[in-house]
Amino acid sequence: MDFQEIIAAKRDGREHSAEELSLLAKGAADGSIPDYQLAAWLMAAYLNPLASQETTDLTCAMADSGERMDLTGLPKPWVDKHSTGGVGDKTSLVLLPLLAACGLTIVKMSGRGLGITGGTVDKLSSIPGFRTDLSPEELKAQARQIGLALTGQTPNLAPADKALYALRDVTATVSSMPLIVSSILSKKLAGGAETIVLDVKCGSGAFMKTFEDAKHLADGLLETGTALGLNVRLAITDMDQPLGSAVGNALEVAEAIRVLTQDSALPGPTARFRKLCLDLGAHTLHASGLVQSEEEGRRLADANLLSGRAMERAKSWFAAQGATADIFENPRALPRAAVQEEMLVDAQGWLKRLDAEIVGQAVVDLGGGRKEKDDKLDLGVGVEIHAVVGDQLEVGQPLLTIHARSREELDQARLALTTAVEISPSAVPATPLILSVR
Ligand code: URA
Repeated sequence: MDFQEIIAAKRDGREHSAEELSLLAKGAADGSIPDYQLAAWLMAAYLNPLASQETTDLTCAMADSGERMDLTGLPKPWVDKHSTGGVGDKTSLVLLPLLAACGLTIVKMSGRGLGITGGTVDKLSSIPGFRTDLSPEELKAQARQIGLALTGQTPNLAPADKALYALRDVTATVSSMPLIVSSILSKKLAGGAETIVLDVKCGSGAFMKTFEDAKHLADGLLETGTALGLNVRLAITDMDQPLGSAVGNALEVAEAIRVLTQDSALPGPTARFRKLCLDLGAHTLHASGLVQSEEEGRRLADANLLSGRAMERAKSWFAAQGATADIFENPRALPRAAVQEEMLVDAQGWLKRLDAEIVGQAVVDLGGGRKEKDDKLDLGVGVEIHAVVGDQLEVGQPLLTIHARSREELDQARLALTTAVEISPSAVPATPLILSVR
């Protein structure tokens, strides 16, 4: 079939067959359909959104456009976790070793950060020696040994998504819900796991700014994932304020280590992050069938964090992937920015807003995130946050600490961050972290 006919069908609002979508995915993956035709189809699919069956068929076709991981032989349950991306979201660094310590097998493909939402692969790259380019054979061998292996996106996994995503990025078609659903789930399907836990972020620092949009995406992910035979568990979680106390690659690794080592004096934002890890851990353990209830999952997750087993698993994980320094013993081995300075509270009251988008953008501007996909990162820069929304603040107490490469960049970040903060003269309630679980 001529691809022009497929474009015309979508332009006129007709539904595609599974064969047509398979042809599209193959042509996008092997380059036989030119970018201008793919771009035209993307705009047609943006204006006439794919129906449920088409979304399922496209997801399957994109997963089949490359290799699929075969986890046969590894102990079950096989689990994967995905976040739609947020500011300060280092949940995988704690949750994955915690779940592996509890008995799950996790083989995970993670992306690099683009824009204000960071990527797990970038955060892990700040550990000296850590490899993020494991082959499928290495992934399987490591997962067999320690229950956990992670790699950056491999070219052979859902290559159709890679091609289509790059075009969506430059044709104003990223925000089509069915296209987002098929993009996320095609990679999860190709990764081979049976239980998928999805953390849909919602708020100023997320892709989905409103609860309605996050819910719409969540509905699509659940419907399509279930239709594809995946066991999908999903949480919508707050991203109006950054997650935890660190935003910036090495700073986030250091914060994850504080949680794993059971540092007894966790600051408020880190305690909030720790709670998300344990809540998602309990949901995942229950969803995987390893335990019979959410409560049992919570007890198992708590026990593995408190006993240090999760920390031991993280040590084994980092070592297995080539870490040349034990950052638990020597956190100074992580990259560190040249200049640090605190921003102090300048008015008495309650923290009403700490805008995640502005904080995320400030970290990108400091050099901690990418504006273009090939930008090189400065892994040591970032922002530390010392309060959460709802906290009472006194004049002069530290609110943020900026980590920058130079005095000039620090001053620019300070100016931008001033607009992220709002202090109310009257009490403000704390914002819920988990907005919905399904
Ligand atoms: N993440 C993805 O992997 N794909 C999208 O389309 C959006 C977010």
